[in-house]
Amino acid sequence: MIVILKPHLGRSSDEFGVVMNYLSNQPNIQIRVHEESGSQQLLTELYLIGDTDALSLEDIESLQGVERVVRVSEAYRVLGRHKDDNRPTSFEYNGVKFGQDNLNVFAGLCAVDNLEHVEMMMRALKDNGQTCTRMGAYKPRTSPYAFQGHGKNCLPYVFELAGKYDIRVIAMEITHESHLDEINEALHQTGNPTGILVQIGTRNTQNFELLKKVGQQQDFPVLLKRGFGITLDESLHAAEYLASEGNSRVIFALRGMKTNMGDPHRNLVDFAHVPVVKRLTRMPVCIDPSHSVGNRERTPDGIMEVSHVTAQGVIAGANMVLVDFHPQPAKALVDGPQALLIEELPYFLEDVAISRQAYEQRCKLAQQKITD
Ligand code: PEP
Ligand code: MN
Repeated sequence: MIVILKPHLGRSSDEFGVVMNYLSNQPNIQIRVHEESGSQQLLTELYLIGDTDALSLEDIESLQGVERVVRVSEAYRVLGRHKDDNRPTSFEYNGVKFGQDNLNVFAGLCAVDNLEHVEMMMRALKDNGQTCTRMGAYKPRTSPYAFQGHGKNCLPYVFELAGKYDIRVIAMEITHESHLDEINEALHQTGNPTGILVQIGTRNTQNFELLKKVGQQQDFPVLLKRGFGITLDESLHAAEYLASEGNSRVIFALRGMKTNMGDPHRNLVDFAHVPVVKRLTRMPVCIDPSHSVGNRERTPDGIMEVSHVTAQGVIAGANMVLVDFHPQPAKALVDGPQALLIEELPYFLEDVAISRQAYEQRCKLAQQKITD
């Protein structure tokens, strides 16, 4: 059960005390306080765990500080959509809105290799009106002998360049909780020129201790990749680990499933799940066409396979596209074969816009049909 308090009711208010007092006197109930400071208001939600069937919804709703009570029936308690649940499906971070009703493109380097390439990428993004990017500093690699990313050494120049080119949010994977401190320190040192969307990669989707640590911090929102060899339900539960620890600013990313049934793609594209995740949860949904497809092949119609699958995700309502670019893919230290060329960025963005428009038209048509 979720008890939503009236906006602006902080922990020190009398109303908060009354509600907590009432609930702590109920047998076999644990209370988790979840506070979220949005752009407009402070939102406080109390998650009740335990014998909630015995609680009276009406009695709780009659308490002064309570705005609404939601009885949670489904598995994804915090991030799920529940009956009569009109909690928000969007959040704002560093001036960028992330929601189930809009779309952001995060084009950038799979892995930071050198300052020149970071600058070329960011300049191209700015020239094309983009304020978000992806930049890998900590790379989880199959072989221990492969390039592992420049780690904290590259953070200062990546963040400074982001500031120079007005990049508001960088998606950056972390593979260990200590990376959060390294990122925070580098941001601090460089004067907070940008924001970070902390990415949990597909290899760590069920690294529960990492999820708990990332869920316990409120500095950064999280991009959680779907696990490549587990069910959707298992991956959505992983997202719930982040939220149950207190961080519900979570974006869920589809990146393809590991099976040779998807050959010749690197992974089996799973973007049919975009609307499913939006139906089951309130999370914005990201697609990663680069790691799904894994090549830059062009089909006879002249369109690249990466763009084809991007279109499939966007026309189904995806809210974020995470895509690899590189100035010289042949020289990229990680995932060169799937990187698009920087010169292809304007074309890629225009193609995405066509699919987004088509999605918006599809929504209008569906609404008309419902009201007819
Ligand atoms: C990545 O986005 O760089 C990455 C390693 O993705 P995934 O975890 O989906 O393989
Ligand atoms: Mn990669």
